[in-house]
Amino acid sequence: MTSQEADQQGPIVLILGAPGAGKGTQAKNISKALSIPAISTGAIFRQNMADGTELGNRAKAYMDAGEFVPDAVTNPMVKARLEAPDAQNGFLLDGYPRTIDQAYYLRDALAETGRDFDLVLEVSVDFDEVVERLLKRAEVEGRSDDTEPVIRHRLEVYHEQTEPMVTYYADQDKLVQIDGLGTVDEVWDRIYKVLDEHNLLPQN
Ligand code: AMP
Repeated sequence: MTSQEADQQGPIVLILGAPGAGKGTQAKNISKALSIPAISTGAIFRQNMADGTELGNRAKAYMDAGEFVPDAVTNPMVKARLEAPDAQNGFLLDGYPRTIDQAYYLRDALAETGRDFDLVLEVSVDFDEVVERLLKRAEVEGRSDDTEPVIRHRLEVYHEQTEPMVTYYADQDKLVQIDGLGTVDEVWDRIYKVLDEHNLLPQN
């Protein structure tokens, strides 16, 4: 399939970043600008935990420890979400994939329907900066995985498991790194420019 044919199905964008890099906020901006749903695996897990579903109960211990929820749970959940009607004209994935195995799984799941993604954005920030941001978020949102030891562990997990995956995307020339330092608006301006340069913004 040519990239033009893929474009006709709407943009598919991935956003990655260490915990606290601000990707959730920017995901909302991207979703609005491109008129595509933002699909966040973390948000789906949190919603399931709040609703007390079996999926939520299975995810909780991993999330509270700052560990990844196993692929056997996460991968089929993402696949089912991508089959929903609102994801047929493009979507933004926030927080998935996070490991090279998930990246392969996603590649194969998209290939089954003749799709591929257009762009991977990685929002990068310095580790000390994110620890501070997350401790502030803990005060506001009260997330159970925003305690300092768990935050540090999530950052280590990102470094060990997600950074190697970022290289996989860089090798395919699909990766654009965004400096995540600064205000939400400053970071958004950088992202907007990249979306524009990749012709992903809706015409007119
Ligand atoms: P996030 O909201 O993206 O920071 O994710 C919060 C937590 O949800 C993570 O620390 C993991 O426990 C879990 N989680 C989110 N996305 C994934 C994923 N792609 N694979 C495994 N676990 C995930």
